[in-house]
Amino acid sequence: MSSSYSLGLHEVGQGAYAYLQPDGGWGYSNAGLIVGDGCSLLVDTLFDLRLTEAMLESMRGVTGGAPIGTVVNTHANGDHCYGNQLVSGAEIVASSATAHEMTEVPPTMMAALNAADGDVGDLFRSFFGDFDFAGIELAPPTRTFDGRLDIDVGGRVVELIEVGPAHTRGDTIVHCPETKTVYTGDILFIGGTPIVWAGPLSNWVAACDLMLGMDIDTVVPGHGPVTDKSGVAQVRDYLAFVDDQSRQHHAAGDDAWEAARAIAREVGARPDFSGWGEFGRITVNVETAYRSLDPGHSTPDVVEQFRRMAHIEAGLAPGA
Ligand SMILES: [Zn+2]
Repeated sequence: MSSSYSLGLHEVGQGAYAYLQPDGGWGYSNAGLIVGDGCSLLVDTLFDLRLTEAMLESMRGVTGGAPIGTVVNTHANGDHCYGNQLVSGAEIVASSATAHEMTEVPPTMMAALNAADGDVGDLFRSFFGDFDFAGIELAPPTRTFDGRLDIDVGGRVVELIEVGPAHTRGDTIVHCPETKTVYTGDILFIGGTPIVWAGPLSNWVAACDLMLGMDIDTVVPGHGPVTDKSGVAQVRDYLAFVDDQSRQHHAAGDDAWEAARAIAREVGARPDFSGWGEFGRITVNVETAYRSLDPGHSTPDVVEQFRRMAHIEAGLAPGA
């Protein structure tokens, strides 16, 4: 919990590490390493091969005597699994829902969008231009599970708990009871705004409540600095607030885009949320809330959603 927010490997408990990538914005994800007797478990790989190789290199002092035998992908977003091929000798574990979802956004699609001409390419590069998707051949999970799975890591029990659908369809958190540490994947963004691609929001709130009830001291988020239960509570409060506000706007007959802009102003007025980055994600979150309220609600395509996020962040300062 005392680790500073700097790039690289930090020991957060005995034999439990976080690999942090400030500033935690789009694509700058965290990973984890749990070291047992003679073998290790890696929680997530990174968005491209260069970043993943740098991470694995930083771990070699530890993994030299305890090679990575297991990789857990917390969910299907590329910033948590696109580096899998660099640890492909290991067993790769994910929930069934995550394994299924992982095929939907292949690295070749990201590479093509990053290289696209015109507005779409410019928009895409404004989010993901730092990353190099060339040469990535996604190594899929070799073992899947539903619900829960305990893994023995050199005598250490590591618990995988599926809490999705929430951020994505199959989110998993990774709990190391011995060190009272949980690796949340993108069930937590700290200092940045959570983005609810799958939902329902209530399911993500329930995932936060589950963690708040666990015997844990150290919480490694998917993005942002290491935190504790106070960080979990903040994310829970944001999601509950957005869910409640969305319900009110839906009941008033507001369309989702109108509601998102109004709720962005409300969020900006809240001192507990107003400093968070990527606040334009509210538009995705309200779309997801509206789909939960009305299964017939039609959400715009992903390009339009990125346009709307950029629009909110460019033109609508929090509190404006
Ligand atoms: Zn992520």
